[in-house]
Amino acid sequence: MQVFKFGGSVINDAASVRALAELLRGLAHEDLAIVVSAMGKTTNALEGVLESYLTADGLATEKFASVKGYHLEIARELFPETHPIWIELNDLLVEVEWILEDELHDEKSYLYDQIVCLGELLASRIVAAFLVDEGLPVKWYDVRGLLITDDSYTKALVNLEVSAKRCKEARSAGGWILTQGFIGGTVDNNSTTLGREGSDYSAALLAYFFAAQDVTLWKDVNGIYTGDPKLADPVERLEQLSYDEALAIVDDGAKVIHRDALTLLRGQKIPLYVRPFVDPTDQGSVIA
Ligand code: ASP
Ligand code: MG
Repeated sequence: MQVFKFGGSVINDAASVRALAELLRGLAHEDLAIVVSAMGKTTNALEGVLESYLTADGLATEKFASVKGYHLEIARELFPETHPIWIELNDLLVEVEWILEDELHDEKSYLYDQIVCLGELLASRIVAAFLVDEGLPVKWYDVRGLLITDDSYTKALVNLEVSAKRCKEARSAGGWILTQGFIGGTVDNNSTTLGREGSDYSAALLAYFFAAQDVTLWKDVNGIYTGDPKLADPVERLEQLSYDEALAIVDDGAKVIHRDALTLLRGQKIPLYVRPFVDPTDQGSVIA
């Protein structure tokens, strides 16, 4: 199996969901697990909703409406009015609407996870439904039933033993597993998050549980560089590097990969590719 992760910088509108289907169409004979994170800047936007709810500045509803509108607009471009996706999206949206309508009585970090997890849930529902419509062998999984964590909200720790068991069960069902990055669930069914930019780590965890052959992070950059390729300085692409070299780059401040993802993959010797979403023929960089 291969694990593919698609982040919010590459999946952020209807056209990118279509491009994703195109990228995956050529791989229909492969065994894949697909991890998606929230679309575009949704996680930041949901953090804004939470902040308004906590401070009661009167803007929470308006901010939430904008997150909702963004996703519904993308869905409108991809699905007909009669599609079951509308019920799935509505079920997810009302969960957060109920929280926002209620009086504030829970702790901030708990609320953060219950609200912010929505971004990954909406994105994965939209992407999975579209890929299924395109005839790809995708099955949507709620990762809150696969990656079981403790209740340290906003920085939850994954219970490797329980999660391994849950993942094994999911694997036996066949087809491509499509699920959310960044989030997990407690044994009591509360949503948790693994820390900002945690989707790479989710992908690494799934690769670990599935003993995957490799992990690919499909990004808006075409690999790992000696510096930030979005800044003006001349930088060089590193086509192949060791886990330790990659860790050194991360420790130097590069945000290209999640540190825990790297250490987990290093332990299992699972190669990690960083490849450009816009050009699937480009092999990008590999850490191995
Ligand atoms: N959506 C989350 C974030 O923006 C997780 C991720 O993208 O990896 O931090
Ligand atoms: Mg991200």
